[in-house]
Amino acid sequence: MPIFDYECKNCGKVYEELLISSSTPDSEIECPECGQHQSVRRISAPSIGGSGSSFSGGGGCGSSGFS
Ligand SMILES: [Zn+2]
Repeated sequence: MPIFDYECKNCGKVYEELLISSSTPDSEIECPECGQHQSVRRISAPSIGGSGSSFSGGGGCGSSGFS
């Protein structure tokens, strides 16, 4: 079941809410701090590691000296 972060616009409380149904409107979410229904869902963005991973691999092959 999805857990969403909510922020209350009334008191500023940030809390996690476990939604039984994903179709539950934000207006149904009750703030545990003040009891108001003014919470908005926060988009929790996971750390995106960019698109350019920098490999610093030098070619170390071919340095074996056979004689
Ligand atoms: Zn509140």
